[in-house]
Amino acid sequence: MKNTAGFATRAIHHAYDPMSHEGALTPPLHLSSTFVFETADAGAEMFAGAREGHFYSRISNPTTDLLEQRIATLEGAEAGLALASGMGAISAALWTILSPGDELITDKTLYGCTFAFMRHGLAKWGVTITHVDMTDVQAVSAAVSDKTKVVYFETPANPNMRLVDIAGVSEIAHTVGAQVIVDNTYATPYLTQPITLGADLVLHSATKYLGGHGDVVAGLLVGRAEQIAEIRLVGMKDMTGSVMAPFNAMLILRGLKTLALRMERHCSTAHQVATWLEAQPVVSKVYYPGLESFAQQDIATRQMVKPGAMIAFEMTGGYAMGKALMDHLSLIMRAVSLGDAESLIQHPASMTHSTYTPQERAAHGISEGLVRLSIGLEDADDIIADLGQALVAIADKQAAPA
Ligand code: PLP
Repeated sequence: MKNTAGFATRAIHHAYDPMSHEGALTPPLHLSSTFVFETADAGAEMFAGAREGHFYSRISNPTTDLLEQRIATLEGAEAGLALASGMGAISAALWTILSPGDELITDKTLYGCTFAFMRHGLAKWGVTITHVDMTDVQAVSAAVSDKTKVVYFETPANPNMRLVDIAGVSEIAHTVGAQVIVDNTYATPYLTQPITLGADLVLHSATKYLGGHGDVVAGLLVGRAEQIAEIRLVGMKDMTGSVMAPFNAMLILRGLKTLALRMERHCSTAHQVATWLEAQPVVSKVYYPGLESFAQQDIATRQMVKPGAMIAFEMTGGYAMGKALMDHLSLIMRAVSLGDAESLIQHPASMTHSTYTPQERAAHGISEGLVRLSIGLEDADDIIADLGQALVAIADKQAAPA
């Protein structure tokens, strides 16, 4: 199959020929932890990097290798790396690249555990962590210096949907020789390919849309072949041991086959739900890049094929109302994670972003009342009906005498 084939075709066929695998339509699952050397010399050559091949599954494995090739082509990158989790990808990459004394510049808003890893892990290790409002490219320009080794951000950011101009920030970072790392979990390569916009490394919590079915925890990283090889051997093999199990690679390979289809449906439903939410008097603010009211719609149009399927919103009654809404839902599940077939709702301040102190949340633009909604693959009418009946139930409750 040609590399010029479309996204969906490559997500299904890239780098696999059934005729090299006894005609098996589905790529085989190689569970083997170790691989036999033809001769002792062949083994020594593999360890020395002078001969290609798999020899131990903490370094590489044929099933994870196929997944690595697939994610690389979908992201427009030279090479990919499969890791045990999104946090495994983040820590393996940053521990490989950074040394004590280096500076990492990052956006104000980050997924809670990424924030905690930087603040409590990297900072303790002697790395200076500087948070900058990356919605303002000038602020990034003012912050970078020759001490800046990495510029790191999520776009859209978890949980408040802030967008970062990937091309603009990459250009600035490269003027001081810093590397740009983008967490592309929310957008997926179907909507945004940060490498093609100038980023150096892109990572995913593959637990989310790439897996897509809520049955696996996994991480992926893509970038230049030489750097990915270094992260494989240093950050993954030695420093974290954060390797993806072959069975999990098989689940992600299966998820990727329907990624294009799922994202189309996720996005169109999310647009309908966001529009409906915005029209509700008790909803004070909806953050969704597809809405006219979204402050950074220009960036969304420039770097996202569609506005995604994550919505954040605030209610007039603050978190008390948000909590009441969540507790009255019956179809939408109260759960963290995102990108699954099931619509999921959660409260960042008390759940995914409870790793920030209340003061840190205030300083980092994560409001206490924000509710995060991951739109699943159910019928849009049913999702809206569930939200609607919950709003009615809350209104009745409020109206009832004490
Ligand atoms: N990045 C983002 C944006 C996330 O939302 C998450 C998890 O929710 C992670 C990274 C971490 O991924 P994992 O849970 O697979 O370790």
